[in-house]
Amino acid sequence: MKHYKIALIKGDGIGPEIIDEAVKVLDAASSKEDFEIAYNDFLMGGIAIDVKGEPLPQQTIDGCLNSDAVLFGAIGGEKWDKLPREKRPESGLLKLRKSLGVFANLRPTTVFDELINASTLKHEVVKGVDLLVVRELIGGIYFGQPRANDGNRAYNTMVYEKEEIARIARAAFEAAQKRYKKVCSVDKSNVLEVSQLWRDTVEETAKDYKDISLSHMYIDNAAMQLIRNPKQFDVILTSNLFGDILSDEASMISGSIGLLPSASIGGKVGLFEPIHGSAPDIAKQGIANPIATILSAAMMLRYSLNEINAANRIELAVKDVLKDGYRTKDIAQFDAKEICTTSEIGSIIADRVSKL
Ligand code: NAD
Repeated sequence: MKHYKIALIKGDGIGPEIIDEAVKVLDAASSKEDFEIAYNDFLMGGIAIDVKGEPLPQQTIDGCLNSDAVLFGAIGGEKWDKLPREKRPESGLLKLRKSLGVFANLRPTTVFDELINASTLKHEVVKGVDLLVVRELIGGIYFGQPRANDGNRAYNTMVYEKEEIARIARAAFEAAQKRYKKVCSVDKSNVLEVSQLWRDTVEETAKDYKDISLSHMYIDNAAMQLIRNPKQFDVILTSNLFGDILSDEASMISGSIGLLPSASIGGKVGLFEPIHGSAPDIAKQGIANPIATILSAAMMLRYSLNEINAANRIELAVKDVLKDGYRTKDIAQFDAKEICTTSEIGSIIADRVSKL
């Protein structure tokens, strides 16, 4: 039997509540698919500041590096907002991503038929959407040097090394191999030299992935196509800045923040987390939606542990439970048959995972 070591970072606000439900569901999946998971808890964010005096203790970095994957809830809250930027909870997360070397951020957008009314777009446009944005996470204009602002003149540098482009392209092609085998690379190569290198390198890398069909699109057109006809996309491969914008745009196709997972991979150890924050306004009330975290756990099984059957099992169970009308409060207005607490819906999904 296979054994995996998972680092759990529950964090602040609703973090502990949603991670507890993901663990319930992971345990159900592992016992059905015959592998074992050992969990270790580590501190990050506001709670780490309170207990250890810093947002990311070295013990957490070491513990994560010593695990097969990291499952993370969320961090942050008003209590820590007045601290200097480098001491705030968010700086812990940025440092953790860097320490793990996770250069590929994967954000799927799936539209659940039962929640189609949650989208602001027309039903026929969003029904059946299933796409994945693969964003380069630790390079490009957010990190490029030189950068400056002297009050009269400001500049940043969008710079990519060929190998940085090749490795994110490989991550996108490999993700597409586990999906519908289509990659659309998004750039601005009609204007930017860095995008021309991006396009040439993606083309070159594609030669090793003959089973994948590759297309290219300019960022301005991609932003439009994503709203006009999102179903044309499988995997969208793009740089840090363009991916930041496109992944937020794509997430709104589904319309509900409590349902969307993410994965950051490619480094020593993968990091998996919901796209939402710590939602302090609803913490400790038992009303948080744990589905984004449960689906992040499924991504962890798929991308870090290669337990594809277990990942499929969880994703199917979530779809089934939504189809049966179980809803947390945030999505209660969309055809609910029964309103559940955080813990109730976690148990219902875990139970469905066992029975599938
Ligand atoms: P948020 O995502 O925490 O909340 C936005 C709104 O969505 C709130 O009304 C909240 O109640 C609701 N919501 C979010 N997740 C939900 C869920 N699972 N179920 C039901 N409702 C949910 O964003 P915010 O309010 O801008 O930020 C709150 C804190 O979270 C801040 O301190 C911010 O810095 C932090 N934050 C952390 C992360 C992270 O840890 N990765 C990401 C974004 C924001």
